[in-house]
Amino acid sequence: MKSELRIRIGVIGVGHLGDFHLKQLKTISNILISGIYDNDINRAEEISKKYNVQNHITIKSLLANSDAISIVTPTSTHFSIAINALKQGCHVFIEKPITDNIYDANTLIKKAKELNKIIQVGHIERFNPAFNYIKNLNLKPQFIESHRLSQFNSRGNDVPVLLDLMIHDLDLILSLVKSNIKNIRANGIKIVSSTIDMANARIEFENKCIANLTASRISQKNMRKMRLFQEEEYITIDFQTASIEEYKVCDMQPNIKNSDKIIEINGEHKKQIIYKKPKIKKYDALKIELEHFIHSINNFSKPETDGESATRALSVALEIHNIINI
Ligand code: NAD
Repeated sequence: MKSELRIRIGVIGVGHLGDFHLKQLKTISNILISGIYDNDINRAEEISKKYNVQNHITIKSLLANSDAISIVTPTSTHFSIAINALKQGCHVFIEKPITDNIYDANTLIKKAKELNKIIQVGHIERFNPAFNYIKNLNLKPQFIESHRLSQFNSRGNDVPVLLDLMIHDLDLILSLVKSNIKNIRANGIKIVSSTIDMANARIEFENKCIANLTASRISQKNMRKMRLFQEEEYITIDFQTASIEEYKVCDMQPNIKNSDKIIEINGEHKKQIIYKKPKIKKYDALKIELEHFIHSINNFSKPETDGESATRALSVALEIHNIINI
């Protein structure tokens, strides 16, 4: 029988990120951890001991004892695990990307609707403290530049860099720009793996906003930055440090602190550019993301990063892949 009181949540796939899922789930008070499953028996044993959680020998046993499941396995396995979990009556949190193709993503969405289950996808940057600040500014960006660069790592190479890294920025940009895509130009290269390791895409929206995205997994340094330009405003977001810098053109203000005032513009009307580095309240984005999932289940509300929005990001990533055509 499924529990009505505290959500019983399990984790499937306890590799690099699954470990963090458990670490954060352990800190959430209104849930019960039903256990874990990983097809690497040694890893499952290790994580079961580390967090003192039950190690289920089969997925079936974990699903039968859970109301919700976090799926933190390689992308190619997301669909088969998620459809099984939905059919067994579980709400599903699926790490990004939702799946590796649109047909499977739509099948999951349809099945979840049919069974009244929640799908949330792990587009964690939407819960980044810095992006959370941006969301409340009601921006109308006209040009966006994003860089998501990562040092080479053998994990995640089962999919092109578009589905592994660029998809984060695609999801963020699609949530910010309320317009349809008009045109995409893209280029990409395979360098070390058998799929695209480095790519650049230029997306033109119907409202004339342009987004220029670069993603690479063969960088010397890690970087997760986005710059947004709109009339009289320029904002930079550093997702790694969860920090923001804002530059805003304003009418002359007499009481502005010297440190905030960058430059005076002498035109017909005197203007100045104000620099601001807002104090961002730091928190663990994964914890907030998982709490959001639990909240959506308890209230049967639509998660911010639901199956539909994740599928839209996936479809743009796959379109970029087709354009690159290597
Ligand atoms: P990983 O290789 O470290 O871990 C995957 C784990 O899944 C391994 O322990 C493996 O044994 C297990 N596994 C594989 N197939 C399985 C199956 N059929 N059933 C049960 N267990 C299975 O990978 P990772 O880096 O933890 O990535 C996992 C997922 O998380 C991927 O989808 C990846 O895209 C996503 N991810 C998201 C972010 C993010 O920022 N949101 C960051 C890293 C990874």
